[in-house]
Amino acid sequence: MSKCYVCGSTYFAEKLVNEVFEINGKYVLVENIPAKVCSQCGKVIFSSEAAEKVRLMVHGGQQPSKSIQVDVFAY
Ligand SMILES: [Zn+2]
Repeated sequence: MSKCYVCGSTYFAEKLVNEVFEINGKYVLVENIPAKVCSQCGKVIFSSEAAEKVRLMVHGGQQPSKSIQVDVFAY
């Protein structure tokens, strides 16, 4: 049974999420990653399997399916 490391809740919803990763100063968006989302605080938790697959995708030179422009604001 997995537990949320932020709030300790054990209730999760299985969802597909979009997540932005920073790779050597370049941002990549990975869509539809299967993840557990804490039903209490909304924290997204990836399985080690999903995290590893994402790591291989973004580091392994795989061609992205599309490219988007991202607006960046400095706080
Ligand atoms: Zn939580």
